[in-house]
Amino acid sequence: MHGVFFHIYYRKCELAFPTNVTQQDGDGKMNEEELLEKWVAEVRKIGPVIRGSVSPFKRKCGKKGCRKCASGEGHPSWQLTFYLNGKHSSRHIGDSQLAKVKSAIENGKRLAQLSVEFGLEYLKFLKNK
Ligand SMILES: [Zn+2]
Repeated sequence: MHGVFFHIYYRKCELAFPTNVTQQDGDGKMNEEELLEKWVAEVRKIGPVIRGSVSPFKRKCGKKGCRKCASGEGHPSWQLTFYLNGKHSSRHIGDSQLAKVKSAIENGKRLAQLSVEFGLEYLKFLKNK
């Protein structure tokens, strides 16, 4: 079941690593260093990454006598939630950072896809060695 899912997931990806890469050119084979350089170049194209998700939350400003905080209404804000070292955690996101954080999260998903593609290419490389 898991294998089927994996296969479909993989097939949906836009392939950054052409499947014939280990059979191309002259005497044929890309060496491990070249494969690694290709990986680094692809990661660089992706840009900054964040793994997690953005959600709204009510921030407490900490100012004495704030009516919004006293009433429990708080101040509408955003947070990044993530899972690290076995724990769920979060960080506040300022309004001015929101767009870049969302973009980095999308980059993070792309990186996860890319690592699946690279893994398959690396496996192929190991088999053709
Ligand atoms: Zn407040």
